[in-house]
Amino acid sequence: VTTDPVSPLPPPPIPLAPGSTIGILGSGQLGRMLAQAAARLGLKCHIYADSPGPAFDVAAATTIAAYDDRAALAAFAMSIAVATYEFENIPVATVDFLSRTVPVRPGAKALACTQDRILEKRLARELGAMTADFGPVDSYDELLARIGQIGTPAILKTRRLGYDGKGQAKIRSLADVKAAFEAMQGQPAILEGFVPFQSEVSVVAVRGLEGAFAAYDVIGNVHRDGILHTSTVPARIAPEAAGKAVDIARRMAERLDYVGVFAVEFFALETASGQDMYVNEMAPRVHNSGHWTMDGAAVSQFENHIRAVAGWPLGSTARHSDTVMTNLIGADYNAWATLAAEPGACLHLYGKHEARPGRKMGHVNRLTAKK
Ligand code: AMP
Repeated sequence: VTTDPVSPLPPPPIPLAPGSTIGILGSGQLGRMLAQAAARLGLKCHIYADSPGPAFDVAAATTIAAYDDRAALAAFAMSIAVATYEFENIPVATVDFLSRTVPVRPGAKALACTQDRILEKRLARELGAMTADFGPVDSYDELLARIGQIGTPAILKTRRLGYDGKGQAKIRSLADVKAAFEAMQGQPAILEGFVPFQSEVSVVAVRGLEGAFAAYDVIGNVHRDGILHTSTVPARIAPEAAGKAVDIARRMAERLDYVGVFAVEFFALETASGQDMYVNEMAPRVHNSGHWTMDGAAVSQFENHIRAVAGWPLGSTARHSDTVMTNLIGADYNAWATLAAEPGACLHLYGKHEARPGRKMGHVNRLTAKK
């Protein structure tokens, strides 16, 4: 029998006063940039993660413990006024447990939905958005049946815990089915019809504690080897399509009682009458495609997330410059001194020591006058 060691703290004041501490689950670069933004507003951050990471260098307090370590979570909860997270693969049970003591923003409902590609796509469809054809796959026979319905080409993905194109297998023809099924390693999966898109875009937006909503300009994204390479604003997309995408993002956030910054990724498909916007996925956190906002917008996605979870008024999402964000992946990092000397390049490095292939080491924002 486990006795629950956690009892609720009095609700934090709204807005949270400067000097208060925000807890962040996850120690990656997103947590680092959140903590930096919080510091600008006089707020402190306590980072909780199962291993140290870039956020630890800039945090007021740190805890290294497993995400199911109740004693460590209880102590963490007692040390903070509100909790948030910087990656979506933390267990929902962790958020539920913390929620008994402190508010967690965004809440467990948003986390549970966005952890599961099926629930996420169902939500998008319910709200009238387009998605790829899809269906759950839990066995080889079910996969064959789904291929019969959806056809090829198609993509088989793990339902949960996928990122940067990991846990995915393309099925070009029936010859690929067996290998694709084996690549899932027995995990529940989703089969998606292939969307022959012309471009990928994302909406990064923020919803405040009282329901206020603001979106940044729609972002055009280019991936390399399944990892985001560049994000460009403004995206080359018709204003009506951009408006549709932002509207879907707003409705998804409302349905999930969302508080904080989030991203919705879309495939844009040209049609005779304009552009169709297919929802691919929603990230319940600040997003790599929003890094341009650090230099190209009035208030960055990181500050806006902190403002939202702290119950502050949202900051302006207005874009003041055209911006191209380029990720520094692996060996790209070796050019840091050259980039530091490049006039007008805004360089951000995450303090990681080893530039392993595929690892996000930093990014650079290049600004030009808004056209
Ligand atoms: P995801 O992990 O879902 O973001 O997928 C990674 C990348 O694979 C996307 O950015 C697309 O380039 C591609 N992709 C994923 N799903 C589909 C799909 N249903 N149709 C076409 N391309 C896809």
